[in-house]
Amino acid sequence: MKCTGCGGSVWDVINTRQREGYIYRRRACLICGKRMTTREIPYEEDGDKIDHSEMLLSLAEELEGLVKKTLGSILNGEDSDERSDL
Ligand SMILES: [Zn+2]
Repeated sequence: MKCTGCGGSVWDVINTRQREGYIYRRRACLICGKRMTTREIPYEEDGDKIDHSEMLLSLAEELEGLVKKTLGSILNGEDSDERSDL
């Protein structure tokens, strides 16, 4: 999903509610702050209607943050606590 304000695709979910069998998510663009509501179908018996590309996107972002955090702690801890014995 692309932001209609800036064309970015980084969203923060600020509110989630379930109504009439759908999940409505209130989202805010992290780049320009524009707010949008998306509607998702949470469950269907003979078909998967969940938007996986969106899930993968947020997963990729989560992983990226985790990698940066891990790399940062490795780089920071390397000089003070280096161990070569195994
Ligand atoms: Zn935007």
